[in-house]
Amino acid sequence: MIRFDVTDADLMRRIDQHAPGWRESAKTKTDLLIKAGFYEEKDGTDGEKFWREILPVYIALQGGKCAYCECSLDETPREWDLEHFRPKNSVAKWPSAKRAKKEKIKYDFDTGPESRQGYYALAYAPWNYLAACDLCNRQYKLNFFPIAGTRARDEHARLDDAAAYTQESPYLAYPLGTSDTDPLTLITFDGIIARPTSLDVTTKEYRRGKIIIDIFDLNMRPFLQKQRAQKIIYLWNLFMIGDRFPELRDEITQTIQIQCSSSRPHANCGRAFWEKWRSDPNAAYKDYREACIRLKQPAFSVIPRW
Ligand SMILES: [Zn+2]
Repeated sequence: MIRFDVTDADLMRRIDQHAPGWRESAKTKTDLLIKAGFYEEKDGTDGEKFWREILPVYIALQGGKCAYCECSLDETPREWDLEHFRPKNSVAKWPSAKRAKKEKIKYDFDTGPESRQGYYALAYAPWNYLAACDLCNRQYKLNFFPIAGTRARDEHARLDDAAAYTQESPYLAYPLGTSDTDPLTLITFDGIIARPTSLDVTTKEYRRGKIIIDIFDLNMRPFLQKQRAQKIIYLWNLFMIGDRFPELRDEITQTIQIQCSSSRPHANCGRAFWEKWRSDPNAAYKDYREACIRLKQPAFSVIPRW
């Protein structure tokens, strides 16, 4: 995961430009939901069709990649989903018995209760939306939303009151804007392997990183491993060119910066690798070699340093 910079005003402007009148309709629909006290489509319209109207806004903001796994959806046959960060329907207990058993997930801390009505008032809240790949949304995230604090209740069901939800102290991170912690402080990478950034298992940051990795199964999806390995090899090749041609280093550095910017696939992995190479080229070389093994291709035997 990585943060995407956008302000409240900018997000609203983009939505208004893309779908004039959408926000007014969302407000009307939200009033109906708040009255009902649970998620339903009272006015007979299709909720999914409605929120998918503004999906392109989020896809553009996120540079065409999934908010959770950072895969590029331009390069895959995967489908886009408009993801509700806080589930609009019920919230299930994380981890489910099935996932806990299958993936051997066990925590020595509480992850919050389930909720029957979920966050129905946020079904049409732009700050509850993200663009995600269908796999992250439908297979992994589902209706999980673990928290360390107290689950927000009906009285907080106001669209303009994001602060009311901070008391929940969620384990997942919302990557749009600056309302939540920067995901880089929660998750980083050793080569193609995601790990919590904090090494202290007792910290909230460590727990958040661990749960995000667990929920999205970030280390066990071959497709993601392959894309990350490609990223690492691509960056290494740039380091190599800079090693051989010092006069090109400025341009190469600019290219690396673009490749590691938030709108590019697997930017978090790329940044971690770039940083490791700058501070410890030998350690980075190990990650590079493992990436080559992962893609069944030979590794250069030279370690670039500049
Ligand atoms: Zn994804």
